[in-house]
Amino acid sequence: MGFLSSIQHLFADKKRILGATDFRRALNNNEFVFYYQPEWDLKTGRVMGVEALIRWESPNGIIPPMEFIPMLEKTGLINEFTPFLFNQTLKDLRELYQAGFDNLFMSVNLSIIQLKDPSLLDTIRQSLDKYAILPEKLECEVTETKHMDRAAIEHQNLHQMRDMGIRLSIDDFGSGHASFNYLKDLDAHKLKIDRDFIQSLFDKPANETIMRTIIGLGHSLGLIVLAEGIETSEQEKWLRENECDVGQGFWFSRPLPLTMLIPFLRTHQEKQQNQ
Ligand code: C2E
Ligand code: CA
Ligand code: CA
Repeated sequence: MGFLSSIQHLFADKKRILGATDFRRALNNNEFVFYYQPEWDLKTGRVMGVEALIRWESPNGIIPPMEFIPMLEKTGLINEFTPFLFNQTLKDLRELYQAGFDNLFMSVNLSIIQLKDPSLLDTIRQSLDKYAILPEKLECEVTETKHMDRAAIEHQNLHQMRDMGIRLSIDDFGSGHASFNYLKDLDAHKLKIDRDFIQSLFDKPANETIMRTIIGLGHSLGLIVLAEGIETSEQEKWLRENECDVGQGFWFSRPLPLTMLIPFLRTHQEKQQNQ
């Protein structure tokens, strides 16, 4: 079967069973691989943590998350992905600690379906215990979507996660479904400003005003403010000068597999020490 037809096959709604079979096979074959993108403290230039971004390294090439995560959500298979997500990312965090980067946090993306899974807390606890990771070193990113209703915001999983000390981030802030209630009620730790805002920052003066306002809003709610998708030194400089706390983007680093992340962090650390 050719690449295109196998993909069409996999994503056709009627072929749900095949989707499940292929997904499980890929999972067992270790075809799902996390890439890690560093988050930088804009004041000190230090890497504070990494965000885990999944890739499907299929025999036909690398498939980006937007091409299979929605399918996993639709079929409910995403809940089978969750134990793998926490196990793998926290295992990798332990490896980073062993390599000498012992203050980093791990940030993972969770969809609403994963958030509402009754076994979520047990899954998280098991992985934290297994790799001896403090809950404070785990962040969970949730995106504001139209599915993020009151029931989701008030879901007991979120309460319990916060009680355990796990940190919550609001992902893609400003990307469309923004609601100030959400900002207020989620009791998050960090606000990640959507990369569209950063990319259009210098298009017109009003955009700079909006950005300053979002940063100020985040700070006044006691949140750490992160800008996503920084691609140029001008963007980085502007954000630093305008008190944005954390930056992420190709300007600093693309998402990297663990085997490339460790040497990257090492080189960066050496450069910092020589400054
Ligand atoms: P996201 O959480 O907003 O992740 C940021 C996306 O922006 C990543 O795309 C990253 O590679 C890309 N990016 C980072 N810096 C730059 C930049 O400077 N410029 C540009 N143009 N892009 C940049 P990616 O890895 O394709 O992930 C897409 C989305 O898939 C993520 O968006 C997230 O919502 C979702 N996703 C990824 N991994 C997972 C996962 O494990 N679970 C779930 N539920 N969703 C995931
Ligand atoms: Ca994210
Ligand atoms: Ca994002």
